Amino acid sequence: MRRFGVAVMNEPTHQKQNPAIEILESIHIDAEELTEELSFSYQHEIGAVTNPNAFTKLNDTGDWVMSCCPLHPESRASFGINKEAPYHCNCFYCGYIGTVDQMIEQVFDLDEGEGLKMLLSGYILDEKPVIYDMVADIENKRERLVIPDMPESYLQEMKESRQSNELMYRAGMSYMLQRGFDQRTLDTYEICVDTATGTLVFPQRTRRGGLRFVQKRKVGDAYHGAKFINEGNKIKRDILFGLHFINKFRATKDCIKRVRLVESPTDCMSNYQVGIPAVSINGRILFRNQIKELLLAGVNEVDLMLDNDAAGSKGMEDAAKALDRAGIVVNKVMYPSPFLKDSNDLLRAGMLDKLETRNVNMIGNIFK
Ligand SMILES: [Zn+2]
Repeated sequence: MRRFGVAVMNEPTHQKQNPAIEILESIHIDAEELTEELSFSYQHEIGAVTNPNAFTKLNDTGDWVMSCCPLHPESRASFGINKEAPYHCNCFYCGYIGTVDQMIEQVFDLDEGEGLKMLLSGYILDEKPVIYDMVADIENKRERLVIPDMPESYLQEMKESRQSNELMYRAGMSYMLQRGFDQRTLDTYEICVDTATGTLVFPQRTRRGGLRFVQKRKVGDAYHGAKFINEGNKIKRDILFGLHFINKFRATKDCIKRVRLVESPTDCMSNYQVGIPAVSINGRILFRNQIKELLLAGVNEVDLMLDNDAAGSKGMEDAAKALDRAGIVVNKVMYPSPFLKDSNDLLRAGMLDKLETRNVNMIGNIFK
């Protein structure tokens, strides 16, 4: 009840002008889907500290999607998210009342406005400028803005950091060459080394080519298990690494309608190198806004190729259902061996362009 509560008590006539409420009323949120995503984030991002059961034990009452409260330990589903805009939350046990953006901020310890941004990044259905203008009101007071790109100069500076430490630059790039990448692939995806931080840099761009954020990883660590550091805008759920190349061809005779969907930038680049169009989702969850971006880029067929492990399989199962619902032809790329875990393994084994696919559009029905 922080912001909203204060507004109600002090300025009742201005309640309607709370931009968060206006935005929430203008977007569609699937309360059940959101609860499931929050459950995942809660377990994986903050370690399920307060209540290991938070956001689990879903129960749909018609008006509310109930689950276990994230604000205290409990094993009963006392906490509800209203299915109608503006998506109030209410816990019948502890008495918590707030809108869904405020609840997210409290549970995940985010700054004011970040909860709304998280929702927008996952739940904007249409690119209505008016929505972004309202975000601008929150972010930059009255300045107009769309989801801001990072200045290109930021990336340029990283590229130029080579001049101050050629040795480190070469060490980083030779690591990528060892992964099987050639210089053309590295240049295409603008891979460079930021010698100021000792990191390999993977620029992440929007469908239209704007620089949204950069992903960095320490030079010299083993690739698997290494943690990425992200810099730039926190809105990421509409970003697919490599999609801006696909999008470029959209209105041409070379329009690319079929892509491989992979986990990481290096998987995407591996496929590019053997001539297969690919995009990476930067993780194992395919978000709704990423599907929208695929459609906007003219893609109508997806070959799923997340990592060859249990988490990748689960991710592909979920992605298959979501893509199927969006009317996209979905195939699964068949790994030839349990020991080859991702596209980069297959690139180095010389098998990446020799894989079979199997249509999985019916998978949604199988799992229902
Ligand atoms: Zn509660």
